[in-house]
Parts: sequence; C-alpha cells; structure tokens
Amino acid sequence: MKKGEFLYEGKAKKIYRTDDPELYLVEFKDDATAFDGVKKDSLADKGILNNRLSAIFFELLEEKGVETHYEKTVSEREMLVKSLEIIPVEVIVRNIAAGSLSKRLGIPEGTVMKKTVLEFSLKDDELHDPMINHYHIYAMDLAEPEEMAEIEKVALRVNELLVPYLRDKGITLVDFKLEFGRHGDKILLGDEISPDTCRFWDSSSQEKLDKDRFRRDMGGVVEAYREVLRRLEGGE
Ligand code: UDP
Repeated sequence: MKKGEFLYEGKAKKIYRTDDPELYLVEFKDDATAFDGVKKDSLADKGILNNRLSAIFFELLEEKGVETHYEKTVSEREMLVKSLEIIPVEVIVRNIAAGSLSKRLGIPEGTVMKKTVLEFSLKDDELHDPMINHYHIYAMDLAEPEEMAEIEKVALRVNELLVPYLRDKGITLVDFKLEFGRHGDKILLGDEISPDTCRFWDSSSQEKLDKDRFRRDMGGVVEAYREVLRRLEGGE
C-alpha cells in the first residue's frame, strides 16, 4: 500500500490518499490542542499511543458487529482506513456529567446521568463546534433522517459495548465524541477513539486518564494515555 497525495491535516492527524481510491492512510501526530486550537503543545509519543488505542477500540467494535472505517494498522503512527465523506456532525455520548455539559446545565462534574445523553455539534472550528439539533441538521442538509437514525443507534451501541469493556479494566467511560461518514451506501464510524476524544476516569481513584489532563494543565498526559494502553493490553 503506497502513501499517496496528502489530503488533509487536522489538529491531531494527517490524511493521505493511497493507491487504492477506497482507502486512506491516517497518520497520528503528537500535536495536542484544546479550546479550539488556542492551547497547543507537542506531546512525545501521543500519536503512537492514540494510533494503537484507536486500533484496539475499532477492532473490538468490528468484532461486535459495528462497522467502522478501520482496515489495519500499518505502522506505529499510521492506520489504513476506508475513505469516508465525513458528515460534519460531531456526536457526543455522555454517561456522567463533565466538561461543557456541567458548565452549560449546572450539573456538577461526576453526576451520573439517569439516561445516556446524546448531543450533536456542527463540526466547524471557526464557529467553535456549536451544538445543534435534528432541525438544524435537516435544515442545513447535513444528513438525512435515516442516516441520523442509524448514527444514533450505532453511537448508543458503541457506548453499550465500551462501558463494560472499560469497566473490566478499571476505567469509567464518562463521555466521548464520535464522527461518522459515508462510504458508498454505508455509514461507517470514522475518526478516532482515544483519550483525546473520550473522558476516561480511573474507576477507584476517579483520576483523569484523558485529554482533560492537558486542558487543565495537570501534567502526566502521555503517562495517563500509556496507562490506558497498559490496561487495555492485558494489565489489570
Ligand atoms: N470532544 C472531542 N472533540 C470536540 C469536543 C468534544 O473529542 O471537539 C470530546 C471530549 O473529549 C469529551 C466529550 O467529547 O470526551 C464531551 O466534550 P465536552 O462537550 O464536554 O467539551 P469540552 O469540555 O471538551 O470542551
């Protein structure tokens, strides 16, 4: 598989074409950003850890029947994925109040939600990813109702699969963000699943094992990502 034309650079990843039009190559960078790119740093090895962690999650989900863009890992920092036409709607799944939800609704961080919460944001950095609802999604022609029904079903299924999987490793899945895209007539789960896009708390100490360590200048960011990987790879 040949690395082809550079296509796109995001905050944490670069995307390249390959010699197969159906496949793209994703390269995970060490760059870390928060607050819409205002806070920036480079964290040695973060890209390697997120490539590995995303692969573990995508492989688990595929095994359980969730269709993702993941094909295979090709190097420390690169995975091969199915080409997607990304739907510009970020899907946030929340089990426990944290971050923007706590702020917006005044619900203290750590409060267990009585029902899983799904939220949608427009994927647009300049507008700071504003929250939107189904009316906006259809009025702006971002996705069809049938597509949203499928996306919501898959997002909740991903949560149902990841919560017990992580609980077994001593990790509480607080919330996470998913992105979906079109590949032919299919909707596939895309992007990444990593401590950059999820909130992971140690189940006994509640210690944060995710990007909040970077957002809040807590230090030990890469060490926390490494700890998540250690647990998923068979520790604990
Ligand atoms: N998230 C993300 N990218 C975004 C916004 C949120 O990956 O652009 C993830 C975030 O890491 C967290 C969840 O989605 O796991 C919910 O984030 P929240 O809305 O609380 O926003 P934040 O506090 O990160 O601004």
